[in-house]
Amino acid sequence: MTYLLVYGFISKKLLFEMSTIAPFIGIRRHRLHSDGHGVTTLVGFHGCPLNCRYCLNPQCRSSKPWRYLSPEELYGQVKVDDLYFVATRGGVCFGGGEPCMYNGFIGCFRELCGSRWQITLETSLNVPTEQVEALLPVADSWIVDVKDLNPAIYRAYTGRANDRVLDNLRLLADTKADCMVRVPLIPEYNTREDVARSVEVVRKMGFERINVFSYRKTTEKIKFMR
Ligand code: SF4
Repeated sequence: MTYLLVYGFISKKLLFEMSTIAPFIGIRRHRLHSDGHGVTTLVGFHGCPLNCRYCLNPQCRSSKPWRYLSPEELYGQVKVDDLYFVATRGGVCFGGGEPCMYNGFIGCFRELCGSRWQITLETSLNVPTEQVEALLPVADSWIVDVKDLNPAIYRAYTGRANDRVLDNLRLLADTKADCMVRVPLIPEYNTREDVARSVEVVRKMGFERINVFSYRKTTEKIKFMR
């Protein structure tokens, strides 16, 4: 909204395009069991509010996205797998980057695909609560990587505070959202005891599906281990 006030001369058409066209880092088809139910196409948004030291998708924070697409253009690309989605109760997983920042885009996409496809969001939840609220009626399931719930560890690893993560986790718990919470063991940042403490907090909130996993440090990069 600040942007609209400062740049009041922008045309209505451009404003419409700005609100519906989003930047992406890539699209991966035919994923099974890793990004939601059934056969899933993973769609990665560009842009993330965090600065994780072992970022799994550093291209989402580079200056240039892979492409800009409207909801209609994205729908046109991913519907090639409609039969797989419907047969396996799969669909599209939005990740990134941070998909909750693009709640308007995802809402438009839902209108295009209807209820035939599952929409899953892979998120850090470190976003304003209004963005999560807007997505509650849109998303079928959520995959939340909480990093570590100790505020000092979280800040050291991501560069940000985790108050919003906790608020938004409570919101998902209160609304009984279908949610899996991921709690990683992060080399040089947390310990198994820290992970156990985060798991305990998440369990007390009421979540049952909790995935504990490790980042494994290699000489070249951190790999994602399940
Ligand atoms: S939340 Fe994900 S995309 Fe964002 S910086 Fe961390 S690892 Fe990278």
